Amino acid sequence: MRQGSPMDRFGRRVDYLRVSVTDRCNERCLYCMPEGYRGWERKPDHLTAEEIVRVVRVAAGMGVRYFRLTGGEPLVRADLVDLVRSLAGVPGVACLGLSTNGRRLAAGAQALRRAGLRTVNISLDALDPRVYRRITGAALEPVLDGIRAAIAAGFERVKLNCVLLRGVNESELWPLVLFAAEHGLPLRLIELMPVTTTSVLSKRNFMPLGQAVELLRRRDELVLEPDPHLGWGPAEYYRLRHTGAWVGLIGAMTRPRFCEACNKMRLTAEGKVRPCLGDHAEVDLRSALRPTSRDEVVRERLRQALQAKPRRHAFEPQYQPGRPMAAIGG
Ligand code: SAM
Repeated sequence: MRQGSPMDRFGRRVDYLRVSVTDRCNERCLYCMPEGYRGWERKPDHLTAEEIVRVVRVAAGMGVRYFRLTGGEPLVRADLVDLVRSLAGVPGVACLGLSTNGRRLAAGAQALRRAGLRTVNISLDALDPRVYRRITGAALEPVLDGIRAAIAAGFERVKLNCVLLRGVNESELWPLVLFAAEHGLPLRLIELMPVTTTSVLSKRNFMPLGQAVELLRRRDELVLEPDPHLGWGPAEYYRLRHTGAWVGLIGAMTRPRFCEACNKMRLTAEGKVRPCLGDHAEVDLRSALRPTSRDEVVRERLRQALQAKPRRHAFEPQYQPGRPMAAIGG
């Protein structure tokens, strides 16, 4: 039976689960995956589609309403369209979204839309192909094709995500804003978080949101839109008066109130529930799924994770990530 959304110890409603469907990726973003990373989970340890559907069914029964598939890169998973179809049919799932780098979206967007996927977030850190390659190790053009395909497929929302890297992509910010405005897509600017162990995570490369806002203010006027219904997460949205672009700001590092309204937990590809991205605590769910056990056991582990959700992330300069973002699910 469906209930109101579950609450954590601090009175926050937790109605959003990010589901990592793989830790594999076809890009190598500077800020995400350490160079030469070999720490992949074994394939047999990844949750199967049936297991993911089961977790989502139990979570939806507890009142979790929003689900986003992520990774790694979800589109490298061969059964993604079938998985989306199954998940979209689970009672209580109010909205199913996907986070992707967009490389394989040109081929997959229509099928995903038809399968019941409703929203798509696409990473786009630069529009200059050289800068894009420097950040991701890959070519830009397939991603632009993917963005066009997503727009053509008629998703309810398509958003762009850009991680701010001082000295790497600040000159890309304004071109990205113009691109976002031209295509009518909200652009979210994300502060670099210490969730990997690459050398890019230094003070030198960190660009606070405030600095990005200053750059935008030199070109346009930012008007705060407190609740533009553009997402389920922590972004603060602004409308740029002259270009008309929507810009969302996601500042885990410099916004002191970032965690106050946190409504999400994460499920890693190998079946751990992570109550907070910036805290090492995890609850193992896979052992509750294999061999098949009662839904009650799965529900109990989800409750344990909910109770373990900390008031605030532990991202401080000295935070040492246990494993990279791709392994946790971004
Ligand atoms: N492959 C997909 C993609 O590219 O969007 C989904 C996974 S990716 C890990 C999800 C999001 O995490 C992306 O928007 C990415 O930019 C963000 N991300 C990864 N590492 C990050 C970091 N160190 N700081 C801030 N955001 C990060």
